[in-house]
Amino acid sequence: MTADPQVAEVHCAPGNAGIAQVATLHPVAPADPAAVAGLAVELGADLVVVGPEAPLVAGVADAVRQAGIPCFGPSAQAARIEGSKAFAKEIMAAAGVPTARSRTCTTPEEAAAALAEFGAPYVVKDDGLAAGKGVVVTGDLDEALRHAAACGRVVIEEFLDGPEVSLFALCDGATAVPLMPAQDHKRAYDGDAGPNTGGMGAYTPLPWAPQDLAERVMAETVIPTVTELARRGTPYTGVLFVGLALTAGGPKVIEFNARFGDPETQVVLDRLETPLAGLLLACATGTLEAFGPLSYRGGAAVTVVVAAEGYPADPVKGDVIEGLDEKVEGAYVLHAGTAAGAGGRTVSSGGRVLSVVGTGPDVAAARAAAYELVGRIRLRGSHHRTDIAAQAL
Ligand code: AMP
Repeated sequence: MTADPQVAEVHCAPGNAGIAQVATLHPVAPADPAAVAGLAVELGADLVVVGPEAPLVAGVADAVRQAGIPCFGPSAQAARIEGSKAFAKEIMAAAGVPTARSRTCTTPEEAAAALAEFGAPYVVKDDGLAAGKGVVVTGDLDEALRHAAACGRVVIEEFLDGPEVSLFALCDGATAVPLMPAQDHKRAYDGDAGPNTGGMGAYTPLPWAPQDLAERVMAETVIPTVTELARRGTPYTGVLFVGLALTAGGPKVIEFNARFGDPETQVVLDRLETPLAGLLLACATGTLEAFGPLSYRGGAAVTVVVAAEGYPADPVKGDVIEGLDEKVEGAYVLHAGTAAGAGGRTVSSGGRVLSVVGTGPDVAAARAAAYELVGRIRLRGSHHRTDIAAQAL
């Protein structure tokens, strides 16, 4: 049974213990273009949604489209907007998108000069895909120089000061529509302490953000970017994830991703009332213009990530998760690093093990529901932040 009545069946490669409750899993390598396209043809799929960046950069969306199946996900060429920070900067410059001033450097001498030009805090980004681990933001010049030397080709840029916001824009190659802005909490521990992670929690809406934020980012960033990619013959189909800093000089792009990002997606899709499959299909078939406005539930959603002991450095796996059948009004569990264990039990199999989404009429109520359910889930050694969405209260 799926949440969207237009969807008869969901198939997933490779999937996890959570999505297995609603989808049929296939042991197909998700970054193998021929294998994924072959599976889609075999199943007679009406729509393929390519999730993570590695399959996109590997050309899975291209292979699916070549097989004649509508695909939500950018081509390998267009996905370089995430795959190469230098390419993203080139597109932003050509499209006049507000972002940090930057230099792409390949030698230690160039890196040292760029670091001196922009000053502290230093921002050094590995040019390639680094699963969220390629960026160093530091006040320590030696650390910045070491990271640059270790990466080879890097983008060095000015530090953007201001709260961070994530905006997902759904694109059909020619045009785009925004989803609700959300805020993520990237650091591992309370008070934004500890190492960067893939995200420890998120919430939407953002009561403190300007009312016209989404509209402004669409006009200044998303539409110019989509237009520039189309002009180059590499139209962008899929979700353009815009990571922004709300600086004194307005919203500026910190990064683009070529996919939905967790945990923000959990809260944004929770609020979206428009059935998702039809919307993604409209993107895949280039018919977004005729789709009509999106509708939302109102109220708020807050998600809290429960991470394994040792995450992010060295997560412990294989522990039994208890409390998954606990019920809290307005709250539910989404699985991430989970697997089916012995005796029908669910065990941890990754760093971010699961998320608890809480919903309610406002952020305070949604947050209370999420933490109530988090408190009933037991995983030995696990940790979570206790201050998700606290600034919004
Ligand atoms: P990225 O992988 O580009 O999202 O970078 C990871 C994190 O580093 C971002 O979420 C920001 O917190 C931080 N960051 C990246 N670039 C900048 C910048 N130019 N100014 C300030 N913080 C940044």
